[in-house]
Amino acid sequence: ILFICTIIFVLLSITASYFLAKRSMNPIINSWGKQSEFVENASHELRTPLTIVQSKLEHLLTKPEDTIMNQFESIGLSLSEIRRMNIMTTHLLTLARADSLEQQLQKETVNLGNLVNEVIHPFYELAELEQKEIITQIHSKRTISIDKNRIHQLLVILLDNALKYTRPQDKIHVVLREDPEYLTIDVSDTGIGIREENIKRVFDRFYREDKARIKETGGTGLGLSIAQWIVESHNGTIRVSSKPSSGTTFQVKLPYK
Ligand code: ADP
Repeated sequence: ILFICTIIFVLLSITASYFLAKRSMNPIINSWGKQSEFVENASHELRTPLTIVQSKLEHLLTKPEDTIMNQFESIGLSLSEIRRMNIMTTHLLTLARADSLEQQLQKETVNLGNLVNEVIHPFYELAELEQKEIITQIHSKRTISIDKNRIHQLLVILLDNALKYTRPQDKIHVVLREDPEYLTIDVSDTGIGIREENIKRVFDRFYREDKARIKETGGTGLGLSIAQWIVESHNGTIRVSSKPSSGTTFQVKLPYK
C-alpha cells in the first residue's frame, strides 16, 4: 500500500509540475498577469493626483473664507496635478497600444540630423529660462527609415528628462554620429545622476528614483519605458550610464536596416 501510495504521489507531483510549467509558459496567461499588474499600477498612480485634486477642491468649497493666497495655492496645485494626469494618460495609452501590438510603425525616410534640430529647437528657450545650456552637434547627414513621430517622442522624453534632472548652470549635450551600421544619438547631461544600484531599474514602468521630487519634476515614471519600446521596435538599443552628482548619458543606436 505504501509503495502504491508513493507511486501515486510521484505521478501526481509530475503531472502538477507539468501543468504549472505549461501555465508559466503560456503567453496568454502571462500577458494577462502582466496586464492586470499594469492596470493595478496605473490605477494606483492616478489615484494619488486625483485624491490631491479632490481634497483641494473640497477645501475651496467648504472654506470660502480662506485667504486668496491659500485659494490660489490650492488651484495651482490642482492644475499641476491635472497636467501630470494628462501626461500620464497619454503615456498609458501609448504603452497599452504597444502591449496589444496595435501600434504599427509608420516608417518613412528621414534625415535624422534635421529631425534632431527640429525637436531640440523649443528646448533651447526652456533651458535658458532655467539657466541651463544645450549644446548640439550633428555629425551626420544620413537618412534613415524610421517612424518620425515615434522618434520625435523618444527625443522629447530624453530631452525633457535631461532638463528635469539638471540644476542651473548644468549643460546638456546632444550628439548625432554615424557608424557603418547605425546612427547614434547621445543625450548627456551634467545633472544629478542616478545611483548605481538604481540604473537598471530606470526603464521599468512607474519607476522613479526619487518619488519625493514628483511635485517638482512632474514625473510619471513611464517616459523611459516608452523610450525603450520605441527604440526596440526600430530594432535599436538604448543604454544608460550615470554617476550621482556628475550626470547621465543615454545612448540610442538606430540601425539603418
Ligand atoms: P519620469 O517621468 O519620472 O522622469 P522616466 O521613466 O522618464 O520617468 O524616468 C524614470 C526615472 O529615471 C526618473 O524618475 C529619474 O529618477 C531617472 N532619470 C531619468 N532620466 C534621468 C536623467 N537624465 N538624470 C537623472 N535621472 C534620470
